[in-house]
Amino acid sequence: MIRLLGKNLDELKALVAEEGLPSYTAKQIARWLYVRKVRSIEEMTDLSKQARAALMQKYEVGLTDYSHIQISSDGTKKYLFPVKCSHSKDLNAACGADAAMPLEEGAIEAVMIPDQDRATLCVSSQSGCKMGCRFCMTGRQGFHGNLSAADIISQIIAVDESDRLTNAVFMGMGEPLDNYENVIRAIEILTADWGFAWSPKRITVSTIGVLPNLKRFLDESKCHLAVSLHNPFPDERLEIMPVQKAWNIADVLALIRKYDFTGQRRVSFEYTMFAGFNDTKVHADALARMLKNLECRVNLIRFHKIPDFPYETSPDIVIENFKKRMNNSGITTTVRASRGEDILAACGMLAGEHKAKGSK
Ligand code: SF4
Repeated sequence: MIRLLGKNLDELKALVAEEGLPSYTAKQIARWLYVRKVRSIEEMTDLSKQARAALMQKYEVGLTDYSHIQISSDGTKKYLFPVKCSHSKDLNAACGADAAMPLEEGAIEAVMIPDQDRATLCVSSQSGCKMGCRFCMTGRQGFHGNLSAADIISQIIAVDESDRLTNAVFMGMGEPLDNYENVIRAIEILTADWGFAWSPKRITVSTIGVLPNLKRFLDESKCHLAVSLHNPFPDERLEIMPVQKAWNIADVLALIRKYDFTGQRRVSFEYTMFAGFNDTKVHADALARMLKNLECRVNLIRFHKIPDFPYETSPDIVIENFKKRMNNSGITTTVRASRGEDILAACGMLAGEHKAKGSK
């Protein structure tokens, strides 16, 4: 069966033409998929019985439902989804991931973070990841495959909070810009008037700096950008982020500076605080110099210890002083509240480890 979910309006138009159905049927199907969020073609009741029967010969909605939920004491919810991944060789990241802790094939996670009147879904874009960042549980597991646009959109539709989500952040498992075509397709569906009709301001894509696709993303979307920076010194950044070898952060910043972030679109930099590694005054000053005159924000993140990584999180007082020093240098800097740590849902902790343990 071919999945309807994940198709854009042009593809739906081609599909209905092929089936000999009126062209307006494409918009009706898009509405059922992305506004009414139905789970079967049978539920598309403004399509004739014959049209539905014809479609059901070949197609299905194709929603992937979650198989497990964990709820944190702070209200954060982690959803586990079974997925079938396709390996893609579209980019060779040259990032030798350590496959010593393999993820169970096809398990991905999405995390819903409630915050007063907001509900943000942290979405996964790949099963595992090939970028091999040393401080990240997903990176430890190696790469199992790209998620299809249908599997990305499924996360947004299947969670219990789907109708009250205010934001989506591509900060879950995987490097979104290493699965560019599917991520940009999902963004198209989320922002198009025939789709979810979200403003691009509700979406943030986080990357470690996959340079060629970063340019495409900046040209082709209006969504916010978050860049994982973590160290202003190239040799030290390389120690924890193999991507630095392929795409230097200086080149990433040079590209970002060519775009306008003074309007609606924002760029932020993620900086995880490792005690004694990247949290000194020298680092703060180098970071401030690096970002000088760029309209941006820095988010400092407490590190959640993972096995076999030598650094601990910086003490709160060090993080606070780092923040002050950055703000005094004119770079807006905040400390990100840690959420869902007790259910391993915080930044860098997603590992798909509760696969098939139970049902929702
Ligand atoms: Fe991949 Fe992101 Fe983890 Fe790096 S931090 S290994 S890019 S999931």
